[in-house]
Amino acid sequence: MKAVAVFPGKAGSAHLAELPRPSISDVPGGRGVRVEVLRVGVDGTDREIQDAEYGEAPAGSPFLVLGHESLGRVVEVGPAVTELRPGDLAVAMVRRPGTSAYDAIGMQDFTTDDAYFERGISRLHGFLTEEYVDSADWIVKLPPTLSKVGVLLEPMTVVEKGITQAYEAQRRLRIWKPRRAAVLGAGTIGLMATLVLRLRGLEVDTFALTPRPNLNATLVEATGARYVCARDRTVVQAAEAEGGYDLIFECSGFSPLVFDGMRSLAKNGVLVLSSITGGSREIPVPSDAINQSFVLGNRLMLGTVNAGRGDFEQGVRDLIHAEAAYPGFLQQLLTHPVRGFENWPMLFEALNGKTGVIKAFLEVRPS
Ligand code: BGC
Ligand code: ZN
Repeated sequence: MKAVAVFPGKAGSAHLAELPRPSISDVPGGRGVRVEVLRVGVDGTDREIQDAEYGEAPAGSPFLVLGHESLGRVVEVGPAVTELRPGDLAVAMVRRPGTSAYDAIGMQDFTTDDAYFERGISRLHGFLTEEYVDSADWIVKLPPTLSKVGVLLEPMTVVEKGITQAYEAQRRLRIWKPRRAAVLGAGTIGLMATLVLRLRGLEVDTFALTPRPNLNATLVEATGARYVCARDRTVVQAAEAEGGYDLIFECSGFSPLVFDGMRSLAKNGVLVLSSITGGSREIPVPSDAINQSFVLGNRLMLGTVNAGRGDFEQGVRDLIHAEAAYPGFLQQLLTHPVRGFENWPMLFEALNGKTGVIKAFLEVRPS
């Protein structure tokens, strides 16, 4: 069967590969699930792997099959699988357990191991292929109504985990009730963070560089959030003028903005960091002022990498909720469908394209 693979560490090495079909007996204990792939989304992580800045092949394999944002349909289940059946719509989780104590209790997204296992990214093959087999432990069922937008579940879990962790950490405050949120970045994750924070009932300001009108601004505003062009007004200026934010979700991919976020929190506020910044940028920061405001205002900053089963399940609930509250919103994120494996280069063209691209995905089979 066909797959899109890279030779990690070799820039521009993406290619069409031929793989043997997997079998449910590949998974021990009768827990195997065979899934035919419907759609696979791509993101900045795939671009970094293609640019040889990230990614690792499985032990003993010269290549890595790409693809971690999947949507598929179950075609066969092993005898010990009761939670899924053929025909179910399914998304596979990305992280797999390593060896730390967190991995042992199903919290592999909190692993303390240096080497981590992520399908399509690190040490495990991904889903940019025709079929995959995995244990039912790592597969999440979706209702049939999400067949068009379910490919957005994995990126949605980035947001779900970050926001859940923020609320979880803020239980320290016993009566914390966030009212105002800022999202830094209006790419796919920024749009989804805006959506989820609006579903939670917060007032949201989403900051991005591109002046309106543009599709991302239109989508932000469709949720009732405010789109702020950061060239006109930075988050620091907005916080100075209107007060600090109770929750800030940083997903711009530009690490200096982390420090702007730190300066824009309200007292008792929380800043969530989700950008994976592989560079080596250094900037001077007002360290005394930032430190003092964190101490005197009990402020909190947390990093988040996705995601656990609970985050996937919360993501399913929020996709359903979003379809009802903001009909058509999720569909509009799916800007760049690519049909047929032979057209895989178009995925990277979309990822490198400047404007108008929110989510590019390979349509492996009609969903
Ligand atoms: C993926 C996550 C993964 C992270 C770090 C992101 O693109 O969506 O599942 O944990 O990269 O590798
Ligand atoms: Zn990703």
